[in-house]
Amino acid sequence: MLDVFALCGGYIDLDRSSFFADVAPGTRVTVPVICFLITHPRGHVLVDTGVHRGALADPVGRLGERRAALFRLRSAPTDEVVSQLAALGLGPGDVRYVVNSHFHFDHCGGNEFFPRSTFLVQRREMEAARQALAGAAVRYNPSAIDFDHPLDYRLVDGEHDVWGDGQVVLWPTYGHTPGHQSVRVRAGKGTDLVLTADACYTRENMDRDVLPGVLWDAADMSSSVARLRELRDRHGATVIYGHDAAQWAGLARAPAPLA
Ligand SMILES: [Zn+2]
Repeated sequence: MLDVFALCGGYIDLDRSSFFADVAPGTRVTVPVICFLITHPRGHVLVDTGVHRGALADPVGRLGERRAALFRLRSAPTDEVVSQLAALGLGPGDVRYVVNSHFHFDHCGGNEFFPRSTFLVQRREMEAARQALAGAAVRYNPSAIDFDHPLDYRLVDGEHDVWGDGQVVLWPTYGHTPGHQSVRVRAGKGTDLVLTADACYTRENMDRDVLPGVLWDAADMSSSVARLRELRDRHGATVIYGHDAAQWAGLARAPAPLA
């Protein structure tokens, strides 16, 4: 039996139009950055590492000028992954696997704090990120300062069952970035919990079938959203969206278990 905990990895103030291609700019919203800890009997799995804790004091240094202007941090000092784990009585050394959904700054900011964990990343994501770092003309802007550390990155291709028992399964949802992945968790009640990360920012994106304006591949992202929607609507999965403030407001958060 496993537990899933929702951890706050920060809050970001951004323009609502960055979430919905059909919304005009001019309305600011504050959205959560969410990480998850899954306590499997064989070891703990952390999904995403949030915004780097140093970004509060030095947003331009961590995010760069362009991102720091687009995204304003609204986090409290403890809205970061190491503090959130401490509230569960855990430290980075207790985390066996870290899953990065993708390499944007709000999903891999805390990577460097897990030097003893094995990171599970889609090969496509890593290859695109490395190409971007090498100066190749790819339209992908991964956060090098956050992911580019000598960590134990293990690259996976497509669907990947972390423990081989069907309980924690990495699920490719390409499109937001070249190798984005979501996570399906079987928490023991017969229905899946699906952690979409940025394959789907909010429930509204899924229900209105509207993509964000900025993405890697619209056709891929659209089919990823459709597959996630099918899990929700036809298979009864509980979907936790990547940055949905309304859903977050009603979620049980660490140290209370989500499921
Ligand atoms: Zn994000």
